[in-house]
Amino acid sequence: MKRLHVIKMKKMLENASRMIAANEPYLTEVDTAIGDGDHGTGMKRGFSALYKMLERQEFYEWDTLCGAAGIELVKSMGGASGVIFGTLFIGGIDRLPHESSCSLTEIADYFMEGEKAIERRGKAKAGQKTMLDALLPAVEALKKGADTGMEIEDAFFYAYNAALKGAEDSKGMESKVGRSKNFRESVLGLPDPGAISTSLIFKAFYEELVSR
Ligand code: ADP
Ligand code: MG
Repeated sequence: MKRLHVIKMKKMLENASRMIAANEPYLTEVDTAIGDGDHGTGMKRGFSALYKMLERQEFYEWDTLCGAAGIELVKSMGGASGVIFGTLFIGGIDRLPHESSCSLTEIADYFMEGEKAIERRGKAKAGQKTMLDALLPAVEALKKGADTGMEIEDAFFYAYNAALKGAEDSKGMESKVGRSKNFRESVLGLPDPGAISTSLIFKAFYEELVSR
């Protein structure tokens, strides 16, 4: 597939919402070990609100859909991750067309800008044990896919695997930002909760993309 329809992207967001909600206990467990234990409930609250909003509304353009998704997350979640995951969907909105279909180049640029916006907002970089450790490799995979003329499905397959590897790699990192920095070396060996969430989002995107 060379262009992605807004209806499919809406389904991908719905699947991400289900995926996050289903993994709430796991996210809680990870954040209890290295943070304050609220990541699972916060993410579930945000993505459940997102799911309900998507159920209620029809979307005809990419920028309208993704902007509304980001705003819903910020509104309903609160906390660090409300801003962070909201920014993921809002930060690159200028790169999206006000149209019903989107190219892989536009999608990759959109998520790349979202990643940069999170870096600016949170004053963090990949390598500091945050969700950026899953997000940056994922968006780089999308960008590489776009630059090499890949099918959209294949690019999302690589993005999902890159996010998964990033979350796995976060286990070996020391925390420098956010609440888990208070735990210092004791977080070694444990993954970052936000990085796990990010890999789940990309997993859900990919699985929905290749379904039916
Ligand atoms: P809080 O830190 O307010 O308790 P959550 O527990 O919901 O919020 O989210 C924690 C996650 O947020 C971390 O696992 C990490 O991935 C992400 N995070 C925290 N601070 C930053 C930051 N400055 N930049 C990027 N991600 C961050
Ligand atoms: Mg927390």
